[in-house]
Amino acid sequence: MKVEFYGVRGSTPTPGENTMLFGGNTSCVYIYLDNGHDVILDSGTGIIALGNQLEKNSRPIYMLLTHNHWDHIQGFPYFRPIYQEKRKISIVPGAVDYDDKDAILKQMSGSTHPVKYQQLPASINILTEMSQMKSFEIPGFSVQTQALNHPDGGSAYCVTAGGRKVAYVTDNELNSPDQMNTTWSQWLDFIADADMLIHDAQYSEEDLPLKLGWGHSTFSEVARLACEAKVKSLYIVSHDPARTDEELLHAEKKLQAKYGEQLDIYCAREGTMVDLTQQSCSKTSKTTDDS
Ligand SMILES: [Zn+2]
Repeated sequence: MKVEFYGVRGSTPTPGENTMLFGGNTSCVYIYLDNGHDVILDSGTGIIALGNQLEKNSRPIYMLLTHNHWDHIQGFPYFRPIYQEKRKISIVPGAVDYDDKDAILKQMSGSTHPVKYQQLPASINILTEMSQMKSFEIPGFSVQTQALNHPDGGSAYCVTAGGRKVAYVTDNELNSPDQMNTTWSQWLDFIADADMLIHDAQYSEEDLPLKLGWGHSTFSEVARLACEAKVKSLYIVSHDPARTDEELLHAEKKLQAKYGEQLDIYCAREGTMVDLTQQSCSKTSKTTDDS
């Protein structure tokens, strides 16, 4: 099982000289197996580069969405497979609190994008009923879901195949002052023994209490959860748009100093591919160090 990060930024894309190391594209992670099966997690602007790769084949596409905030769907209108004749695309929406499970399509209703979703040549299927399920199967993978602690809801996913488990939990506030959809102990059960936990930590401790209730976690909260759950590695995503490369490197260094003996811990970099089968990590040209 290989995991590739195409977009790790939260809220809004952040091009510029201060974000070149960690990347400026919004949420998208790609998981793929040696047998050809694959699945996409979220459809932020990171999915645009992934689409440029996937349009070279004709395999059915499976996509799991956490929720419909812009940074998780805004790359979809520029995902090239949707313009391929009869390309099969199945989308599981997040379990959000309002009746808007097809928001990823409705953003292409005419006023904000020139192509209307009804005109798309691909065969796109929104699997609304699956968003309510605690577990389901897609080709190549078993999937478990858990409700996010985030304004208007959403879904976290555990994706397993070949004895490997990846937990994708974003956007999520572990210690929300509002009613919790999922408690700390329920998160421990959900992510237990994962080979990789991908979790939102948009905030540092200094960002609180101002941003309490905004639906995101802090670096140290997520690191403590990962250690308690005994996951093998933690990749932090949904980087704050104002967080520079220098600041993320500093945060990562502090986390590794404090928790590094218990697990591998990183602030995820766009362009990083992790081979969980080999338990090794290789980088594309976009990344420069060996962490
Ligand atoms: Zn969100």
